[in-house]
Amino acid sequence: MVLGNVRKVDFHCDVLSKLLEDPTLSFIQDDQRKLDVTLPRLKQAESVFQTFAVYVPERTDKTMVPILQSIDLFYRKVLSAPEMTFIRTAGDVKALQRKPGAIGAMLSLEGADGLQGDLAMLRILFALGVRAAGLTWNHANWGADGVLEHRGGGLTKKGRAFVEECNRLGILLDVSHLSDRAFWDMLQATVKPVIASHSNSRSLCPHPRNLTDEQIKALLAAGGLIGVTFVPQFVSSRVPAEIADVLRHVERICEFGGERQLMFGSDFDGIDRYVNDLTHPGEVHRLLDALLAKYPEALVKSFFEENALSFLSMHLPR
Ligand SMILES: [Zn+2]
Repeated sequence: MVLGNVRKVDFHCDVLSKLLEDPTLSFIQDDQRKLDVTLPRLKQAESVFQTFAVYVPERTDKTMVPILQSIDLFYRKVLSAPEMTFIRTAGDVKALQRKPGAIGAMLSLEGADGLQGDLAMLRILFALGVRAAGLTWNHANWGADGVLEHRGGGLTKKGRAFVEECNRLGILLDVSHLSDRAFWDMLQATVKPVIASHSNSRSLCPHPRNLTDEQIKALLAAGGLIGVTFVPQFVSSRVPAEIADVLRHVERICEFGGERQLMFGSDFDGIDRYVNDLTHPGEVHRLLDALLAKYPEALVKSFFEENALSFLSMHLPR
């Protein structure tokens, strides 16, 4: 299908954790040995914005060191490409939209374990450019329980202080990976809309990483943004998951009135299984085509680009 170009926003990838494991990998050259997301593939995808998550593997020390090493890799191996434009403010987003060929790059934190409850560390990460943060990965830490922690606890006192400080600084809060109780605690504690950077509908695919209908409704009512993800286990309990299954999650969120609050969070480089025909950014046009067969072009454009960018223009610091 021919159309005016639809540029792509992707709100979650794990390139940095692969670079942390093997700093010889290249993001800038098409090093497909291990990376799903590379600069050539982002160009192929007509990407306009990519969030790079700082995710420190479970076996690694819960300190600031691997977090800072990941940010160093982001500066040296991602931002060194002239196309990549560091996004830290609403003004950066506006400038990005006026600059053809530029690809915005934002830093997010996936799991705040290494901060060890010290908000000075959060302020340092903000100074380094981190603009979105998930308090936990799948397990419990000082701030909250993650979704696979069986006791299912909510936010701790320190976790609430983290939410407050993120609100004050202008760091977007990410609820993907939180336990159900921590999700609700966070929604209550925050004064700003939250994002779910990479989560789907649990009523369609019963995985605990997905959001219940009540959670989706509450997140939308609070002005938040949901990134439909391509993690096959969150897309369908059938194997292999298909692009058509991804569409069902889009449809679900639209049914709740979320068509202007929907985006994508691929989780490329964080997964070792894929939705059929959707294995790297260069294949996202297949999802685009499938959506265009079902929704008006203007709406599809908002799913891929406008919803996320207008949210960022509204909620990133000036
Ligand atoms: Zn994740």
